[in-house]
Amino acid sequence: MSRPRVAVIGAGLTGLATAWRLRDDADVVVFDAAERVGGQVRTIELADRPLDVGADALLARQPEGEALVRALGFGDDDLVAPATGQVHLWTRGRLRPLPQNTVMGVPTDLRALARSGVLTPLELARAAVEPLVPRRQLAGDRSVGDLIGERFGSAVVERLVEPLLGGVYAGDTDRLSAEAATATVWAAAQRPQRSLTAALRAHRADAPSTDGPVFLTLRGGLTRLIDRLHSELGDRVRSATPVRTVERSTGGWRLHLDERVKVADAVVLAVPAPAAAALLAEPVPEVARELAGIRMASVGVVALAYDPADAVDAPQGSGLLVPRGEGRLIKAVTISSRKWPHHADGAAFVVRASVGRVDDVRALELDDDTLAERVDAEVRWALRLRGPARERTVVRWPRALPQYDVGHRARVDRVRFALEAMDARGLHIGGACFDGLGLSARARDAQGLAQAVREDLARVS
Ligand SMILES: Cc1cc2nc3c(=O)[nH]c(=O)nc-3n(C[C@H](O)[C@H](O)[C@H](O)COP(=O)(O)OP(=O)(O)OC[C@H]3O[C@@H](n4cnc5c(N)ncnc54)[C@H](O)[C@@H]3O)c2cc1C
Repeated sequence: MSRPRVAVIGAGLTGLATAWRLRDDADVVVFDAAERVGGQVRTIELADRPLDVGADALLARQPEGEALVRALGFGDDDLVAPATGQVHLWTRGRLRPLPQNTVMGVPTDLRALARSGVLTPLELARAAVEPLVPRRQLAGDRSVGDLIGERFGSAVVERLVEPLLGGVYAGDTDRLSAEAATATVWAAAQRPQRSLTAALRAHRADAPSTDGPVFLTLRGGLTRLIDRLHSELGDRVRSATPVRTVERSTGGWRLHLDERVKVADAVVLAVPAPAAAALLAEPVPEVARELAGIRMASVGVVALAYDPADAVDAPQGSGLLVPRGEGRLIKAVTISSRKWPHHADGAAFVVRASVGRVDDVRALELDDDTLAERVDAEVRWALRLRGPARERTVVRWPRALPQYDVGHRARVDRVRFALEAMDARGLHIGGACFDGLGLSARARDAQGLAQAVREDLARVS
């Protein structure tokens, strides 16, 4: 009996990991429009070392990422944990420590919040009365800014929550969904306590305690993970091969490539939301409309290498976050030479700065040289560096980060419902637009997608 045919569109982590999990179940082929596979995982050379300029760490508390890495044969020697977890906020004129015991920036420890100096005394007093603020019983999702601002005051949103979410979504707290973008806070807000502080403390107490690191990366760069998947899949991966349209055919699907048509029993879409919307406009227009409604943020990374002698006064800690109200170009800085032990070799002081928010493209409108120069100047000031960077590289990520706006979960449910209602059997949609942007969420998604495809194929045979 001939083996079922599965086509995966998109060779980022989601697509590659899905194909790898299906390699023994089907004839699987992965198509990617780009020459380089890996999507938003990319490692470059800077100051004679590999440096990640897309994702640079996977969340270890979500086990599927590390499990995938280990299943591919990487071991303890390859995995690296951050040397420090201390993050600073560049606010109110200088760097201040991100207070301990915050959950997505939401404080649960008033003393630590006070010590950090992130809020003025008046703002601190407003945050302290959170337990007394009457609770509004609202049905359904709300924006992060609305929920947290109502409980703690707007300064907590602007100076703590926004910079943390800015790092992940490059989003706008007035539009990001509390339910989808701050799931832990949302779960705590559903508890019976009036005080969100008390509910978050209870939530923390209930969470299983883990001594392990929060984040992990791969020595040599996360592209090694992509390369390993690629080499295991071999010529099943076709780069520089964009899929132009997808259409139903009897018992399966037809993919239109530039010069030929590929027939498959099952199709997995693992591309960003706008690309998925374009591909599905014909076969499942309701789904395409929902996907087209997901806003995307463009961001950029400026990688900088300094002379270590110029960095003797640089603060300790893994990096800093910049609230949007500060008016800087940079929104976050990873001090790679402090965060990662394998970058702390004394030969160069390496930093990566992120720019761009969904509603702030000032930085991305600059040409590379001007952007690098201005980012270099801001980084130098914030980190007290004594001279300019000796190497600078700009990497742009246009329309890269999906926004989980208010109502996101309901949108995802509508997509799943529409796929069922239209009996779009064999069509599977994954990727960061639905259930989590992080690499560990992507690895988990790949497991689920592979399982769903297997079940589909078993039903047909
Ligand atoms: C700057 C930056 C920093 C990040 N930092 C972190 C981090 O530290 N930790 C973390 O966990 N996550 C991080 N992320 C998020 C994470 O990298 C992404 O969510 C994840 O890599 C997305 O993987 P994916 O496979 O779903 O999609 P992508 O990586 O976007 O891959 C999709 C692929 O689809 C291809 N494609 C598009 N259209 C077509 C078509 N028509 N035909 C064929 N192929 C097509 C694209 O070429 C691309 O290769 C970061 C993201 C960015 C941009």
